[in-house]
Amino acid sequence: MAVKKNTAMPITEIEHSAFCSTSDQLKVKTLSEEFGVNVRWQKIPEKYLTMQPDELDVRISKCKEILQGKVKILGHHYQRDEVIKHADFEGDSFKLSKEASESPDAEYIVFCGVHFMAETACIVCSDDQKVFLPNINAGCSMADMAPTDDVLDAWDDIVSLVSASSVVPITYMNSTASIKALCGEHGGIVCTSSNAKKVFEWAFSKGDKVFFIPDQHLGRNTAVNFGISLEDIVVWNPFKPFGGLSSEQIKKSKVIVWQGHCAVHTRFSAQQIVQARSRYKDINILVNPEFPLEVEEAADYVGSTEYIINTVNKAAKGTIWGVGTEISLVNRLARLNPDKTIFCLDPIVCPCSTMYRIHPAYLLWVLEGLCNGIEINRITVDDNIKRNAFVALERMLQIN
Ligand code: SF4
Repeated sequence: MAVKKNTAMPITEIEHSAFCSTSDQLKVKTLSEEFGVNVRWQKIPEKYLTMQPDELDVRISKCKEILQGKVKILGHHYQRDEVIKHADFEGDSFKLSKEASESPDAEYIVFCGVHFMAETACIVCSDDQKVFLPNINAGCSMADMAPTDDVLDAWDDIVSLVSASSVVPITYMNSTASIKALCGEHGGIVCTSSNAKKVFEWAFSKGDKVFFIPDQHLGRNTAVNFGISLEDIVVWNPFKPFGGLSSEQIKKSKVIVWQGHCAVHTRFSAQQIVQARSRYKDINILVNPEFPLEVEEAADYVGSTEYIINTVNKAAKGTIWGVGTEISLVNRLARLNPDKTIFCLDPIVCPCSTMYRIHPAYLLWVLEGLCNGIEINRITVDDNIKRNAFVALERMLQIN
């Protein structure tokens, strides 16, 4: 048995409410002004600190012209508008990595997202492509909640009680390359929020127990949706020996979910849905599947980021949508669909603080570096990890 623990709360989690405000003004300021927000910012040459947003904008466009054909800028849906406008392609994490791998001519992939996404792009891209993350401190609080050593210890504990061939590890896309590799190495697989149910079907055709990392909510919601009762789902607490579970609980369970969550999506509550329904009689409630089960059950529609975007864009004129997901995306949807009423269920404007660290000044810093032949914030993945993580991703692609 592995003895633990002094696991600390990930810093990104503590910092998560840093950008929350009651105003809906999320306009970019100079980096020196934004440095006033109490999060870890990566050091950047001084000249970028005071550049005004307009100047940043012009200089980024100029770099793109110089690097034309060589660079592909990928923008996650949760990025700020001032960053997303420079993206050559916009999407969710998996779609962006797929786009990178399908653009072999792009020597440089500048990933405006978070660290695990840039790693995923490294795993699927060719050896001739280089991936960059504009701000190295743009992590993900959920991925941080599943450090490799803790997950390896948990795996060892579980397979000391039940046969390894009977447990299938599934990791959500929002996890580090090492965790994806661990799944690949042990007969497991990656899932996204849109294919999680299919991945569960695959997993239960291979074994009789699932170990789901790192989002307990997506794991629990998918298991319930798959027909597994709550009594058969247990939560692995990495802060306690044997996850805080008895041998009997581990043996009897069908699904063991890691005690992780997304700090952005767990801000939403069933109470907010009740309030939204009391304001608008004909409202549609649309939420992301990383929410606690009671919020999912109170909603009308549940789906991935791409599902949320498509549902709102295709909705009839005049319809009303209370949306539960990251605020930068909800604001953009509202702006692009002026014929509908669209608002965020959370009255506090609280962007993903890690995504938000991709300030345009960081994007410019990396691009100007590339124009001058200097590589800044290149992301790489160890070959062995890459190989095993690719196996887990391939398994997912085969069942899609
Ligand atoms: S929204 Fe949540 S899961 Fe996505 S990057 Fe931010 S913290 Fe991570």
